[in-house]
Amino acid sequence: MKENNDHPKALEIYLNLRKEIQHYQEITGIAHWDMMTMAPKAGKALHSEALGTLSTEAFKRSISKEMEEVLEALMEKGTFETLDRKYQRSVEKDYKGLQRFRKIPEKEYREYVVLTSKAQNVWEEARENNDFQLFQPYLEKIIDFNRRAAELFGYEEHPYNALLDHYEEGMTVKELDDIFSVLKKEIIKLLQTIQESSVKPLKKYDNLELSVEKQKILSRRVLEMIGYDFSAGRLDESVHPFTIGLNPKDVRLTTRYRKDFFKMALYGTIHEGGHGMYEQNIPMELFGTSAGSAASTGIHESQSRFWENVIGRSEEFWIGIIDEFKEIFGEEAKEVTLEEMVPYVNIVEPSLIRVEADELTYSLHIILRYELEKDLLTKKISVAELPEKWNAKMQEMMGLLPENDRVGVLQDVHWSGGMIGYFPTYALGNIYSAQLAETMEKDLPDYRDLVKNRDFEPIKQWMVEKVHSRGSLLTAKELLKEITGSALTSEPYIRYLTEKYRRIYKFSGNKAE
Ligand code: ZN
Repeated sequence: MKENNDHPKALEIYLNLRKEIQHYQEITGIAHWDMMTMAPKAGKALHSEALGTLSTEAFKRSISKEMEEVLEALMEKGTFETLDRKYQRSVEKDYKGLQRFRKIPEKEYREYVVLTSKAQNVWEEARENNDFQLFQPYLEKIIDFNRRAAELFGYEEHPYNALLDHYEEGMTVKELDDIFSVLKKEIIKLLQTIQESSVKPLKKYDNLELSVEKQKILSRRVLEMIGYDFSAGRLDESVHPFTIGLNPKDVRLTTRYRKDFFKMALYGTIHEGGHGMYEQNIPMELFGTSAGSAASTGIHESQSRFWENVIGRSEEFWIGIIDEFKEIFGEEAKEVTLEEMVPYVNIVEPSLIRVEADELTYSLHIILRYELEKDLLTKKISVAELPEKWNAKMQEMMGLLPENDRVGVLQDVHWSGGMIGYFPTYALGNIYSAQLAETMEKDLPDYRDLVKNRDFEPIKQWMVEKVHSRGSLLTAKELLKEITGSALTSEPYIRYLTEKYRRIYKFSGNKAE
């Protein structure tokens, strides 16, 4: 190997800087987790201030002159080639992030941070009072900023690509348009078939009251079963469920419970468990580098969707756990049967709220937001027109008209925080999960039997080996190609959905019987 005297020193400085950043992030992570789970309500405002100070410290380091110089030194010809692959990738990713940031004039960036933090409070108020006009000027500024940022970042073909790249490296509007247009058409077709079917799954478990204490036992058992490691994690409660990976040895999950709605806790827990297992199984060897993170936001979501939907809503999963379910809840669940439970957890019913959507229509909620974001960015529509456009699309895709903006355009927090380009990753998660599952089935042809027998270890190990262990050494695109041998396609996902609902709603081909 070629000797380079500058290389060890620069690498050392770089890794030390990264370590400092990691430490700040770890501690802000704990503080954030605490605020969401344990902290008394009265203390939250003061905590947020402290949190702000600490996160600024981490951010300052990641964009410092020192960081820039050391990254440039490491990227020099003759040096870069001598670096281990994980360092190469880490340097590339960090440099890209830094350059992206450098392109925004400091004054504008500061104004934007203030704007989005204000906008989140205004959005909350607007949603509460069903007053879109209150939020409108803020959203206008946020869209303006993102439009300008896209110009400054630079892009090919479509300004949205510049924003998308931040969450899903290399993804383009062209690719998404192709994939989403097919998916949208097929989901709407399936939805019609399901609505025409004479089979209507019973909703009587909606009335089931299952004590929260017992639901907590079930959540924990299921997580242990699928392979979430409690010696390196916890499960707590919060208003909005989330996963936080402080480091691979401390990955915390939250869920929420409602006595009269056990599906929410169970599937919320499994969903976060999928995210959590990803974080727990990124190798320690990559820790401390930028390669020690998930391949992309969409791939992260593929892991949660895989466990929640592909596994957790399957008949085989319920065959495996129904006895234990009944045992845990005793009298409370004495009427529950496998034959009713499987259709019940797979009920399709178009609804207005994304986070409450069923598995089939969920992606339509995302496609709707994606189409609107694109049109806002290119000025095809204005922010003022947004509620009307939202409602029209809702009607077109799901046949529902929101009775007000609270259950329409004001329902999500994302835009108020400036997260434009994020929504598509939710639908990508669904698409990736099915594509991965099809490949997994080739390697583990008896995987359905494994699920029935609650032997999840080989399935988890497959994901660890193929996905988790790679960190972000590859982009999502490269990873998918390596694992499945093909580019992103919605076909496996459409096959998976058709198969599933054909069994539940008993139709053949595309027609209801
Ligand atoms: Zn998720």
